[in-house]
Amino acid sequence: MPSCELCGGDDAPILRRRTRVTATIDAAFEIRCCAHCGLLFQSPRFAPQFYRAYYGQVYRHLLAQEQQPFDSHVEDQIARGEALLESLAQILPRPGRMLDLGCGAGGMMHAFRRRGWNVVGVDPDSLAAAHARDALGLTVQTMDAEEMRLAPGAFDLILIAGSLEHVHDIARVLAQCHKAGAEDSLLLLEAHGLGQAEYLGAIGHNHRRLLTANSLALAMLRHGWTPQFITDAPLSGPTRPGSTFALGRRTERLGPGPMEAAIGLGIRDTPEAMAAWLDRHGIG
Ligand SMILES: [Zn+2]
Repeated sequence: MPSCELCGGDDAPILRRRTRVTATIDAAFEIRCCAHCGLLFQSPRFAPQFYRAYYGQVYRHLLAQEQQPFDSHVEDQIARGEALLESLAQILPRPGRMLDLGCGAGGMMHAFRRRGWNVVGVDPDSLAAAHARDALGLTVQTMDAEEMRLAPGAFDLILIAGSLEHVHDIARVLAQCHKAGAEDSLLLLEAHGLGQAEYLGAIGHNHRRLLTANSLALAMLRHGWTPQFITDAPLSGPTRPGSTFALGRRTERLGPGPMEAAIGLGIRDTPEAMAAWLDRHGIG
């Protein structure tokens, strides 16, 4: 039985037996739900080399088939960045240093830079990252988030907008973020798992886990961030329905203690509740 990447629990009943690759192709990847913390995740996981090849070459092609043209995709990213800055105006009083992890074509970074932020991005999609560098003049590393080379304490804000479902090793990525965050820095997570799942009518093969308000809170507590708020409000505008946002502030409290305390207080999902949640949203 696979163990849960969030809490380490090894009891995880199967809720779905397939994931959706395209509108007409399904794959035999099971979706399990951890009985301890409630994380919904795909099993088995692909090998790291597969992820590298997939995001380097295949992902953009699949995305292009099911989404709008690339230019309007970048325009949407810019608009979402603008909307996010408006939504967080009270919380982000002045520009600082921002890391956009899974920045894609760089549109959100572009919006932050226009407001005076010093921005750096990372994305494994070579074509999108090249667009960010060449068309927008942004500093973007083409690589997996697990492999980032970042100076300790380098960032005041780390943004992961709809990318945490995709990464291979969520623990390693969040550990990297904690190291790269300055004292009192902020981590903003946007989980788009439900949005994509509703859109596909199934859980997509490239969303390795589906993050809810509870699992976002637990992931933050496990990896050194104290949740400030978690909301379904559309902080980045109307174009990504089904997103959940979580904002955390960096703390020195690392390790499973804070997460386990929260689970003990009932901040968790359950296989029963998640099965009902999937049914309620028509996710087959
Ligand atoms: Zn778990």
